[in-house]
Amino acid sequence: MTFFIKTFGCQMNVNDSEKIRHLLAAKGLTAAPEERADLIIVNSCAVRARPQEKIFSYVGRFPGAKKVIVAGCVAQAEKEAIFAKKVKVDYVVGTHQFCRIGEIVDELRAGGRPGTALAFTRKWQELVPGAAARSSAVTGYVSVMEGCDNFCSYCIVPFTRGREKHRPMAAILREAEYLAANGYREIVLLGQNVNHWHEPGGRRRFPDLLRRLARVPVPWIRFITSYPGYHEPELIEVMAAHRNIARHIHFPAQSGSTRILKRMNRAYSRSDYLAIVGAFRRAMPGMKFSSDFIVGFPGESERDFRLTLSLLDQVEYESVFSFIYSPRSRTKAAALAQEAPAALLKERLIALQERQAVIQLRNNLGRVGTTIDVLVCEAHPKKAGEMIGRSESYRVVNFVSRAPVGSFRRVKITGAGPHSLRGVECFS
Ligand code: SF4
Repeated sequence: MTFFIKTFGCQMNVNDSEKIRHLLAAKGLTAAPEERADLIIVNSCAVRARPQEKIFSYVGRFPGAKKVIVAGCVAQAEKEAIFAKKVKVDYVVGTHQFCRIGEIVDELRAGGRPGTALAFTRKWQELVPGAAARSSAVTGYVSVMEGCDNFCSYCIVPFTRGREKHRPMAAILREAEYLAANGYREIVLLGQNVNHWHEPGGRRRFPDLLRRLARVPVPWIRFITSYPGYHEPELIEVMAAHRNIARHIHFPAQSGSTRILKRMNRAYSRSDYLAIVGAFRRAMPGMKFSSDFIVGFPGESERDFRLTLSLLDQVEYESVFSFIYSPRSRTKAAALAQEAPAALLKERLIALQERQAVIQLRNNLGRVGTTIDVLVCEAHPKKAGEMIGRSESYRVVNFVSRAPVGSFRRVKITGAGPHSLRGVECFS
């Protein structure tokens, strides 16, 4: 039997797909292109409404003989909606049931009836060893925790990923050491609230984990996503003391208005957030930040929105993901009335994105003439003799070079746009 996995959503879903791929390969299945696969696995994302619709329309493309499994967040949250769509789905597998994927495949092969596997568990499940089938030979994702107890009023994650559970430090270190020994150049620690990791049943917290991981010989260590409400000052000390922890943090603010942050049930104010950013920058002057923002949360006034714009100006983010608020069923905010017209919300989103593009362009132009370290990620698909890499702050760098993927290069920056830098490899 052959399989194809279609992944929607964030790095956590990419990492889950890697684990599913490993489990299926262990059952003797082989990967194949979508058109030739006997089994299609749709690993889905439910964070916003529109991408979820795209997933339903993708699933509807396989009415024939192929078996279809919908897995992940949409599977967990929308079982009824999936079956109500009258598209052909053979199994719905929730976020805590990937461990059963092998036996589900056996059931389907034996002609079993459509079914669901949706139970949650509070215990960490060690699904695959470090050698999981990985999508990159350069960047290795390592899950350290999963789930969320925060219940931000707009967010569906606690309903799709369940409550927080934490992976033992020994297993995390084993996987990181495996990646280092196999030539990985970058480790990305994953978790919905990665900075809230703590040893199950123990006293060690995220700064302890990071301190220990910094001894693993990998040039860059990153972690996503950090919740500002869980920030501990010790994290800054650990980062400042270890040069292989990238000077970049994804630190979602969501809004620049304390009033809206309260309505979102976020456990920090604008001034708390800015104080943390300031502390990072005092300890590490080159520290860069990226963020997520929701525009048009119910009740957002013009003043609230202006506070978000001014936060962009103050923090000068490296990059920002921004979306118009989209109500998700079961969340508290779904009961709040949206009084702002759609056209106004769109205007605000464009204004935010334009403001951020100006900031990014200004900062990127400031790098022209400097020389930076770049991790080579892939050959440019359209330009012979060019490579695509990433800077320490996760900025895309296109540069003239024939350096091998996975190597680090010094690159002289010769040009800049809002979203990327251009350069040439520097040999002196
Ligand atoms: S911290 Fe808030 S936004 Fe992040 S996953 Fe948890 S509930 Fe969602």
